[in-house]
Amino acid sequence: MMTNRRILVTGGSRGIGRAAALMAGARGWDVAVNWRNDEDAALEVAEAVRAAGGKAVTIQGDVALEADVIRIFDEAERGLGGRLDAVVANAGIAAPTLSLADMTAERIERMMQVNVLGMFYTAREVARRMKRPMDEPSASLVMLGSAASRLGGAFQYVDYAVSKGAVDALTNGLSKELAPDNIRVNTIRPGLIETEIHAVIGDADRPRKLASGVPMLRPGSADEVAETILWLCSDAASYVTGAILDVTGGR
Ligand code: NDP
Repeated sequence: MMTNRRILVTGGSRGIGRAAALMAGARGWDVAVNWRNDEDAALEVAEAVRAAGGKAVTIQGDVALEADVIRIFDEAERGLGGRLDAVVANAGIAAPTLSLADMTAERIERMMQVNVLGMFYTAREVARRMKRPMDEPSASLVMLGSAASRLGGAFQYVDYAVSKGAVDALTNGLSKELAPDNIRVNTIRPGLIETEIHAVIGDADRPRKLASGVPMLRPGSADEVAETILWLCSDAASYVTGAILDVTGGR
């Protein structure tokens, strides 16, 4: 009997993660949806995956906590019935616009805990659990970086930009480490994407207001990012590893 391939999406209850989880379900993946605060939203995603014919499991957990990440992988494997084939390390936070001089240590530490340590713990479980022989279809880790890592985030969120710079560096190193294990490692760097993250930064209308600075003159959608994530997870990207792919409308 053919079984579906299995994917875990961290931060799958909202925004880009939710779009990726729903799209994966619609394309025949079994999906593990990690959520932190909003169980109802995660259950809704799982229901949609099941309606599309796949298995789905929802898993509470904070990616900033090592023990939570290990448990998230354990529960994903148990709930979906086997080894994962793809992981979307999407969970990430932003924070209100501030100059570095005004940032508290608590803010900077939390940014690094979620966006850097969370990415490390997630990537490490991929390295430990997802290796496979070269003659099998490859496993795929897709991390969510940000165009902020090269734009810098001056006067807004240099802490966030630095945390996403770490994701670029992790991609460069880990893609080489894991290539012989038949695990591909790539990063998507979204630009201005319409999700709730902008309300956290300080202005829910930010994508629309800043659209004139985007060469394509509009913000992107979570679905447009999810398309590139799902492509990198698929066998269509079988020779792509170590890529840091901007999805920015040219920004
Ligand atoms: P949202 O704020 O809309 O969603 C973030 C998701 O991550 C939520 O489901 C949230 O769950 C979850 N999450 C946050 N912290 C944790 C944690 N510690 N553990 C587990 N889950 C967590 O963000 P987006 O969808 O916009 O962003 C997704 C990714 O894309 C992030 O890494 C972000 O940095 C990146 N990105 C987004 C851009 C954009 O313009 N939208 C641009 C560039 C990069 P909960 O609500 O329960 O906390």
